[in-house]
Amino acid sequence: MASNDLLVCRGLSASVDEKPILHAIDLTVPQGEVHVLMGPNGAGKSTFGHVLMGDPAYELTSGEISFDGEDVTELAPDKRSRAGLFLSFQAPVEIPGVPLRSFLRAIVEGRGEKVKNKEFRKKIQELAKTLDMDPAYLDRELGVGFSGGEKKKVEMLQLLLLQPKLAILDETDSGLDVDALSVVSRGMELYRETCDGTLLIITHNTRILEHLEVDRVHVMVHGHLVAEGDSSLIDEIDANGFERYEAQLADAK
Ligand code: ADP
Ligand code: MG
Repeated sequence: MASNDLLVCRGLSASVDEKPILHAIDLTVPQGEVHVLMGPNGAGKSTFGHVLMGDPAYELTSGEISFDGEDVTELAPDKRSRAGLFLSFQAPVEIPGVPLRSFLRAIVEGRGEKVKNKEFRKKIQELAKTLDMDPAYLDRELGVGFSGGEKKKVEMLQLLLLQPKLAILDETDSGLDVDALSVVSRGMELYRETCDGTLLIITHNTRILEHLEVDRVHVMVHGHLVAEGDSSLIDEIDANGFERYEAQLADAK
């Protein structure tokens, strides 16, 4: 393991309800890099994100996960989050009755940090402004009646507030409108600029990658990682899809 490797997965296999989904995944993300995980619908990309976060719905049947030099394979999700892992979900949360402001405070305090009221107000106010978000949203109920773009802004606000060491962004395969796409792009850029953040972006939609320098692309098909390469892979997949990789995997079996 190189000393600057932030995330190292070795031989990860995972099942849901005894059905194997992920097969012996080896994947490494060095600190400060931007990695992309691509693959057709149902390949297991979101499952991989959930397994990295320790979601109990997924059973790890073999392998290990090392993060920032620590073996986190057995750690509970909250401990992983404290260690600096962040996953943005495909379906963002809605919590009626809880103002966004209180939710943001709770996630920061949940990490064991003390927050001073005044400073915190100022900080989230400023972050909202940098994301072109109307500060009035901070007093609205979390997620309730938010548009797709507004939900994405909340997600990016969380990202910039928490400044995790690794952000895993799992984007919906469709349904991100132009506004939401630009919010995600802007959020990712700010995260890179403000804390030299490391990104693992799970996506179909290569448009959100346009403003980023991608270091490495991983391709997943039927729960297997079947290819890895530089950013030229993105254009290749945009042009040709995943059929070649699916055929290769079928031949190898
Ligand atoms: P992707 O994100 O690449 O589209 P997913 O990881 O969502 O793929 O799904 C991979 C496979 O695992 C699919 O066959 C899906 O039905 C199954 N799967 C994922 N999560 C669950 C779950 N919680 N319960 C049952 N099946 C699941
Ligand atoms: Mg998915």
